[in-house]
Amino acid sequence: MDKINKPISDYKDVGDTVRETIIIGSGPAGLAAALYAARANLKPLVITGNELGGQIGTTTDVENFPGFPEGLTGPELVEKMQAQAERFGAEVKIDFIQKVDVSQWPFRLTSPSDDYYAKTLIVATGASPRKLNVPGEVELTGRGVSYCATCDGFFFRDKDVVVIGGGDSALQEAIFLTRFARKVTVIHRRSTLRAGYTLQTRARKNEKIDFIWDTVVTKINSDLVVNSIELMNVITGETWTRPTDGVFIFIGHLPNSSLFAGQLERDEQGYLIVDQQLRTNMEGVWAAGEIADPVFKQAITSAGMGAAAAIAAERWLAEREDEPTPALVEAVSA
Ligand code: NAP
Repeated sequence: MDKINKPISDYKDVGDTVRETIIIGSGPAGLAAALYAARANLKPLVITGNELGGQIGTTTDVENFPGFPEGLTGPELVEKMQAQAERFGAEVKIDFIQKVDVSQWPFRLTSPSDDYYAKTLIVATGASPRKLNVPGEVELTGRGVSYCATCDGFFFRDKDVVVIGGGDSALQEAIFLTRFARKVTVIHRRSTLRAGYTLQTRARKNEKIDFIWDTVVTKINSDLVVNSIELMNVITGETWTRPTDGVFIFIGHLPNSSLFAGQLERDEQGYLIVDQQLRTNMEGVWAAGEIADPVFKQAITSAGMGAAAAIAAERWLAEREDEPTPALVEAVSA
């Protein structure tokens, strides 16, 4: 593990401008970390990122988060987790970190409007939707191409839409879209779904949903808004055009780790590498949730990781309780 580059006693006390802990990201991992850090009296600051709640904030129905037997929506879960963390003193700030410097301690985070300093950092930046990378996708996002059924499903009342992907997200959101759309066609590149049994059964039973197997989208066409897609059967090579009003893409996620390139160790897929205690390679920096989890990727496992990271940060700080509060980097170099 890389040690912080100066002994803590090198820094003079600058009071509360240095946070005990800052959490980057406001999904289940970030908000659970905030709850635990707040209850440890660390007065954590959560910096939300572009979307409060992360991926779960744009999820329709959450049926597998323990404690909610009737299920709830993603935004409802986020609201409850935020309220619980704030009740114990967490501060949630809408801002977007553009630059992180963990080479000096206290760590420095920079947003368009502010600099933040922290003795410990919990990275919970999650993941963003993977793109299809076909012509038309970028230009037509918001004009018929979407990565969020909760946000955009309403605009497709009585329309025909396609859902790309064969995982849990694709089927869950396809089922949700049947509340609005006349017909939902799931297009999957194989003939076997990756999604779990419950969602598969529910989707296959839904009369508004049909499937196109072994097929990929090669282009999205428009006349101002999406009007059709080009398809190719990957077995036969057959190509054809299919009219559609909307294209919902759910083909997995990519970890949001570019902020840490060259500073924190990442694997070949871009996930932050952590040890069993969720420590990154930099002392004082932990990672929790999907940014550091290529395997489970569930709201509940992310929340568990967030709680664990906060406990680890609190213990690390407690071991250094008698040492002086670090000063800002500028104060040292002045
Ligand atoms: P996922 O499980 O990784 O599935 C991605 C799907 O997209 C796969 O079917 C994959 O095809 C397909 N795909 C990937 N790249 C593609 C491309 N370039 N073109 C066409 N298709 C492509 O992702 P996810 O569905 O977002 O789920 C992520 C995690 O969240 C999973 O662990 C999942 O269990 C969890 N989740 C759970 C629930 C729930 O339990 N209710 C709901 C949502 C998500 P292949 O199958 O051929 O690889």
